[in-house]
Amino acid sequence: MPVHIRSGSGLLLLLLACESAEPVPPDHPEPLQEQEPVVGERGVAVPDPGDVWDPLPAQPGRGFIGSPCREAVDCRYEGAVCVGSAPEGHCSLACERFCPDQEGFSITFCIDGAELGGLDPGACVSRCDFARFPERGCRSGYGCVPRVRVNEGEITQLVCLPGVETPTGTCLERLAQLGVDFEAVSRADAHPSGHPELTCRIEDPVVLHPPIHGVDLAYYNGSPTPNITAACEMALALVDTVDDLAARGVRQVLHYGTYNCRVISGTSRLSRHAFGDAIDLYGFVFTDGRRYTVEGDFEDGDESPETPGGQFLYQAVHRWHDAELWSIILTPNYNAAHDDHFHVDLTPGSDFLQLWGLGPGYLGPAPFND
Ligand SMILES: [Zn+2]
Repeated sequence: MPVHIRSGSGLLLLLLACESAEPVPPDHPEPLQEQEPVVGERGVAVPDPGDVWDPLPAQPGRGFIGSPCREAVDCRYEGAVCVGSAPEGHCSLACERFCPDQEGFSITFCIDGAELGGLDPGACVSRCDFARFPERGCRSGYGCVPRVRVNEGEITQLVCLPGVETPTGTCLERLAQLGVDFEAVSRADAHPSGHPELTCRIEDPVVLHPPIHGVDLAYYNGSPTPNITAACEMALALVDTVDDLAARGVRQVLHYGTYNCRVISGTSRLSRHAFGDAIDLYGFVFTDGRRYTVEGDFEDGDESPETPGGQFLYQAVHRWHDAELWSIILTPNYNAAHDDHFHVDLTPGSDFLQLWGLGPGYLGPAPFND
């Protein structure tokens, strides 16, 4: 929802204070902006993009949810609340599930109001933003911690809260530091069809929202995949893989999906897709219009591919293996079920790239997942 900046009640109070002849008491906190609001004919504040209504050039990061404040007028949006108990003040807003976002500021999130200012039911805070605050993801005095959305406990985000330390090294932290759009979610255990004895469970489940570093992800047929469910560690591997591809001009990755609570076809064993740490890659679209697919361009059983597409695909899986991005990489050389995609996953303890049956491509324990 776009935010329209209007004069809030705090601003009107300020205007009243400015227009009165009474001097401002010495202990009255000054608003953060230095310039006085412009007042029109009828005493109504007049937005002037070059003046007080555009704080960014003079005071970047001030005037929206999560920004410092001394009074609500510093927050510059309708319904603003300045939580003065937080370090340097904290611009917030009462919310029920969602909060507005504004360009130039960190994305927001609605958490339990008991956590900040006692807002009811929820309080708007900013999500951790490692692009803006590389060290902690938050401004000084605040730490980056996971919190659930108020009224929607299955959605978790990393948000900035006062008085907490940013934990370091957790998977969610590392993912946030990579600057990709995602949310931590909870996923109940599930059971594959016909197998109540087997349990599908995702470790640290997240939902990624492409594009990832400018690279889009879509189904093999080109239809968009705005939500990609994955284990957090798999999301890290996927970002690394996307970076590898982007560096070679790929702008879109075509895939067959990630999480899927199912057994390996013809067996009673869980697929790695049931753990959310696998993805099936169908093909790659380049910025110059080239489009290579595993089905159309991979040169089966050939260690010296001759076509540009065959060479690209062959080199890609070898690079990913050498960089240890994935523990299992299955190509069309593995079996007929993989004729049209690369299956990559994070099977613990495996180191496998199947290119030649069990011949030269064999690099570790036999895979048993697809
Ligand atoms: Zn697969």
